[in-house]
Amino acid sequence: MSGPDKRVETKLAKGGRRKQWRGSLVNVPVERASTILFDSIAELDRGRPELGTYRYGLQGTATHWALAEALTELEPGAAGTALFSSGLAAVTTALLAVLSPGDELLAPDAVYGPTRRFCDTVLKRYGVATRYYDPAAVPEPGERTRALFLESPGSLTMEVQDVPGLCALARARGIVTLLDNTWATPLFFPAMAAGVDISILAATKYVAGHADVLIGAVTATAEHFRPLQTLAWDLGHSLSPDDAWLGSRGLRTMAVRLRQHETSALKLAQWLKARPEVGLVLHPALPDCPGHEFWKRDFLGSSGLFTFELKGAGPAARTAFIEQLELFGIGYSWGGYESLVLPVDPVRTVSAPPAANLVRLHVGLEDPDDLIDDLAQAFRKQQ
Ligand SMILES: *Cc1c(COP(=O)(O)O)cnc(C)c1O
Repeated sequence: MSGPDKRVETKLAKGGRRKQWRGSLVNVPVERASTILFDSIAELDRGRPELGTYRYGLQGTATHWALAEALTELEPGAAGTALFSSGLAAVTTALLAVLSPGDELLAPDAVYGPTRRFCDTVLKRYGVATRYYDPAAVPEPGERTRALFLESPGSLTMEVQDVPGLCALARARGIVTLLDNTWATPLFFPAMAAGVDISILAATKYVAGHADVLIGAVTATAEHFRPLQTLAWDLGHSLSPDDAWLGSRGLRTMAVRLRQHETSALKLAQWLKARPEVGLVLHPALPDCPGHEFWKRDFLGSSGLFTFELKGAGPAARTAFIEQLELFGIGYSWGGYESLVLPVDPVRTVSAPPAANLVRLHVGLEDPDDLIDDLAQAFRKQQ
């Protein structure tokens, strides 16, 4: 185990690798189990499951505990991490853990689409009302507001929020804060230190890093971790040990991958900003991006995902541009080593997106100059 005094790269190398879990191996092995065998009835009747104690496959094995512990160590101030079979399951279970019928949830208008869908369908059916707010503004909590959901930067349009300010406001009113921290990860935005109660990661993205696995993780303070983990077990959530192992594998190299994603994405964003075909470049580290000042104040880096505006082009021209690209795959998700592109049409209900005709890039680990050449040839074919 690494202590809280270690720097983040060391934590990534050491985290979760307890001797009692890995034996003499470097890595904690894949432990597959539904049944756990007990030596006696007394042991069987030991009471409620504890994390890190073999009980039943649902409560995990050392493979899961290793990943959960490593993720918890990245967030000083956190009490634990619950693992899920997708980032979306992590989001929905975190919401269910804090909301009850009659409560109101505040959610940013730029929230991840499937999160919005869950709020508008399942939460609504169970008597929780979601009120969306402009991600570039400060929401006004109401009498029934129980939770404030944050996603910074926002999905598709990348608005950076004043997370420390909003958390302080929520805390003063007894409102729980949840942050979808998938874009920054704890490496570029330590959430608990900013005052967040519950931090959610689609570990599918940068933790796993190779576009071959779905994992969700929720890291929470002592007040919120136990109820959250208990609810996850009550709902029967589990993560396959093979996938948990791939998560730990990805985590070891996350810092170096993120730094390269950062450098390459900045290079592409700056190159795009200088192109006549491009309007706004919605990259948190660039001044075009709403909330750029909060990124400068609060973040330790920027990752590989950003959006830009194709100026004066209609949807057909945007499609033609995207299909002309050779090194950017067309597909959902991001955070892997490969570059991706998508047309982006935000669904908003209470605020306007910063621009229309948007294209989202995930900048992978290819040589950034090859990626720029690819964008340049696609622009040339546009004329
Ligand atoms: C991808 C994503 C999720 C969901 O993760 P999955 O593992 O794909 O379910 C949640 N939030 C954000 C911001 C995402 O980009």
